[in-house]
Amino acid sequence: KVKEDGRNDFRFFAKAMQQRTTRMLQLESAMHYALERNQFQLVYQPQMTMDGKTVIGVEALLRWTHPELGFISPAEFIPLAESNGQIIPIGAWVLRTALLQLKAWIEVGLKPMIMAVNLSAIQFRHPNLQGVVTGILNEVALPPEYLELELTESVATADPVNAIAVMNELHSLGIRLAIDDFGTGYSSLSYLKKFKVYKLKIDQSFVRDIATDSDDRAIVSAIIQMSKGLGFKTIAEGVETQAQSDFLMAQGCDEFQGYIFSKPLPAEQVLELIRKHQSRA
Ligand code: C2E
Ligand code: MG
Ligand code: MG
Ligand code: MG
Repeated sequence: KVKEDGRNDFRFFAKAMQQRTTRMLQLESAMHYALERNQFQLVYQPQMTMDGKTVIGVEALLRWTHPELGFISPAEFIPLAESNGQIIPIGAWVLRTALLQLKAWIEVGLKPMIMAVNLSAIQFRHPNLQGVVTGILNEVALPPEYLELELTESVATADPVNAIAVMNELHSLGIRLAIDDFGTGYSSLSYLKKFKVYKLKIDQSFVRDIATDSDDRAIVSAIIQMSKGLGFKTIAEGVETQAQSDFLMAQGCDEFQGYIFSKPLPAEQVLELIRKHQSRA
């Protein structure tokens, strides 16, 4: 009986593995045509001052919809694009599209704001990163101060000496840097102070339970104090409730991003939302 169960477990496991492999191969080959077939889209999520009065900017988030496979989550396809190198052309497309969008918004009268773009570890380690970024900024003709690049804490800490050098170069170009998912990596505090960083983004896993969990409250409040002490701005991601927002405000967090104000939205909808908000202010 035990043996039979074991065999069934194995068959189940083997089948699940096979399905995963098939899916990965499907996505892998579909990805090579995704750019040229216009299957990628950007959505934008507002970043607000903690009091909710001012829109600081938006974060561009990538979406992939395939005609047969349907919606594919970035959590699934970004790691794949990183492992097969496609993240390089895809990442350049994201950067160009996001900056062209910001430029178009400013031209129709939106107050200048920040465009935050996620940068993959692979892009960050690419020898021509600065060349690509300056090329796109020139092409779009936007000053570098409008661009904020988000790199995850693990990227910054994997090879801190190299990371510091790359950050210094990006910083000297006039681009702002933010550390994404802060708290989930292993930052050595001695390196953190050397990072030419403008902002720390507190990971949403710490924000989720801050209304009720005293450990998370302690962690979040410590991150905010440390961030202030080091001269960084602090933004909380994944803010969904008033209770979370109240706590963050009381702790001196500068900005937030989350469903409480808006989900990531397609360009036309986010423009409308920001316009309404700016005309009320
Ligand atoms: P991230 O950069 O940390 O983005 C935050 C994620 O939290 C986004 O998921 C966003 O939709 C979600 N989110 C925002 N507000 C809330 C909220 O109030 N509650 C909850 N539960 N979630 C919220 P998304 O769009 O699925 O992106 C997932 C991750 O995929 C991103 O995490 C980022 O690491 C990666 N990603 C997305 N677009 C790009 C891109 O263009 N390039 C690269 N390299 N990575 C990207
Ligand atoms: Mg991000
Ligand atoms: Mg994040
Ligand atoms: Mg994340």
